[in-house]
Amino acid sequence: MVAVSKKTMIPWMYKNELLVETPKGALGFVYEITNVITGKKYIGKKNFLSKTKKAFKKLDGTIAKNKKVTIKESNWKYYTSSSNVIADKIDDSKTRLGGEWLLEWEFEILSINSNLSENNYQELRLQVMKDTLDAQMCTLCFGERELSSNSDNCKCGGEWTHRYDNGNIDRVYYKTADEVLWKARKVSFLEMLN
Ligand SMILES: [Zn+2]
Repeated sequence: MVAVSKKTMIPWMYKNELLVETPKGALGFVYEITNVITGKKYIGKKNFLSKTKKAFKKLDGTIAKNKKVTIKESNWKYYTSSSNVIADKIDDSKTRLGGEWLLEWEFEILSINSNLSENNYQELRLQVMKDTLDAQMCTLCFGERELSSNSDNCKCGGEWTHRYDNGNIDRVYYKTADEVLWKARKVSFLEMLN
């Protein structure tokens, strides 16, 4: 008998195609989750495979010093994010919409990697490149907040909010609520791009 999972399979998209199997030779991926209602995003990483270590008995009945390592597929097909912020928001969607909750979310794979340190690096690189700590958008039209927008509101009347729910990068660099620091960071970011 085939066990049927009650968990929802996540429609992970990679290069506009649905990814349903672990790609050959791949160990991990970097993803971007978007709430299509609020426009808010989150960038994180996940492993395709997981390693479990288990103690085992030797032929003489004693426990071996080394543990047996088993590699199997991780829960990535059903995984939504390790971020508590995202988990809470997804729970909220599930409460309101039940089985239709996926309508409010998009799951995109940005980068697939064959080793885990490369996966860490690509996550870090994408978080920096996409300005996850400082990018701000309008709550109504999702337009990017320009440095020149001094007013508290977007032209359309919406308010400014952080585009990404990522609160930190590598638990070392944090989001700022300080307007002066935000502007200073934005100036240097734009200068670096030129
Ligand atoms: Zn707007």
